[in-house]
Amino acid sequence: MRQFGNLAIIIFGPPGSGKGTQAQLLADKLDYVHFDTGRYIRELLYNPKFNKNKTIKKERQLNKSGKLNTTPWVLKIVDKKIDEINRLKKGIILSGSPRTILEAFGNNKNRGIMKVLEKDYGKKNIFIFVLNIPEKESIKRNSHRLICSVCRSPILGIIKRCNIKICPFCGGKLESRFDDKKEIVVQRMKEYRRQTYPIIKELKKRKFKIININAAAMPYKIYSQISKKILNK
Ligand SMILES: [Zn+2]
Repeated sequence: MRQFGNLAIIIFGPPGSGKGTQAQLLADKLDYVHFDTGRYIRELLYNPKFNKNKTIKKERQLNKSGKLNTTPWVLKIVDKKIDEINRLKKGIILSGSPRTILEAFGNNKNRGIMKVLEKDYGKKNIFIFVLNIPEKESIKRNSHRLICSVCRSPILGIIKRCNIKICPFCGGKLESRFDDKKEIVVQRMKEYRRQTYPIIKELKKRKFKIININAAAMPYKIYSQISKKILNK
């Protein structure tokens, strides 16, 4: 394995492309921290402790309707987390952010995520993967996705055909994710296209390393493509 400083890896992909799974596999392999922004945000938003918090209530409504959360709020959370992980001398894997141009590049009021990553990890250590998957496949996978009611492990739609009834990790009961209803998935995909495509275009312009991956294959195949790119570069 080649020697390198800690990397910052960003994985883009529409809902159902398996970006969370890939991020987790990489994190286990490299001993990096997988920062799943979506999951982290959901945990904050649906923590009953914050039921009276006005900001959280507003952001919760946005999340429920499948819309993106407001940028300054997301940036504050994500920037803090990136710095925290870097201070632990760990590489980072982001799945689920940046989701907008503003989140990625910031403005005069907010420092964007790319700036924070460049400062903490160095531009040459940033790897960006784009998982591509046909829309139909994305919907199919999302509508089959289950999650463990106890440990929150996701069961992939692609694997569910094996007819698993309980969580293979802890034996907990499996449930559907409430935001995986078809119309919400469609809305999230629309948001992904509208918001993420321009980020990828801008990242290219700014000469970041971007690697496209065909994500219609089984997760282990996608993983081997990604890890080759990282380890052999
Ligand atoms: Zn479980």
